[in-house]
Amino acid sequence: MPVNVQNYKEVINELGTHVTLVAVSKTKPIEEILELYSLGHRDFGENYVQELVEKAELLPKDIRWHFIGHLQSNKVKNIAAFIHLIHGVDSLKLLTEINKQGKKNNRVINCLLQVHIAQEEAKFGLNEEELLQLLNGSISQLRNIKICGLMGMASLTDNMDKVRYEFHFLKLLFTKLMTHDSQLTTLSMGMSGDYKIAIEEGSTMVRIGSLIFGERNQ
Ligand SMILES: *Cc1c(COP(=O)(O)O)cnc(C)c1O
Repeated sequence: MPVNVQNYKEVINELGTHVTLVAVSKTKPIEEILELYSLGHRDFGENYVQELVEKAELLPKDIRWHFIGHLQSNKVKNIAAFIHLIHGVDSLKLLTEINKQGKKNNRVINCLLQVHIAQEEAKFGLNEEELLQLLNGSISQLRNIKICGLMGMASLTDNMDKVRYEFHFLKLLFTKLMTHDSQLTTLSMGMSGDYKIAIEEGSTMVRIGSLIFGERNQ
């Protein structure tokens, strides 16, 4: 299935200049990524390390790669040299490893802390208390990471009031933290099915896959 260029352009128009689109290209071939690239798009998201590494090797070096999956500590080294932003960080252990690999690569790696906002059990992320504990802990000593903001995934439900409530909660938390930490600039929330609500609730970065690339097989 080809890239839906019309949907892509519509999304770009809707987002305006203050919301970044991460085109989620997981499971999609490099030809389709190149098609969006040729339209000027540079931010792409993947959620498997192996797939990301293979694609990054083959594709232009000015692509900004976003890791949006659940990152295992032992895989950080594979992406540390080039990753632009890691969205789903939810433990000090992982942050410490990212910092270590950042240092090895002589760079500062951008991270978002994932907050658990959905009511479903399965989603990863920190609750508010864990988030504050992490931010107030020893992470200021980690010089090779930069916490740029927060990321969250709403419940997978048709109940859009619930989705809105969850995004609203995350935005409030983000705003509260922002007043203490000027490095926090990015709020990554919103996917194909809920990005319009996410923008209304203050998202600065949306992660959109199927709306642009079509449904995934797996
Ligand atoms: C797959 C994925 C997306 C994109 O989902 P779509 O519904 O296809 O837009 C966004 N965020 C994360 C974390 C994902 O894993």
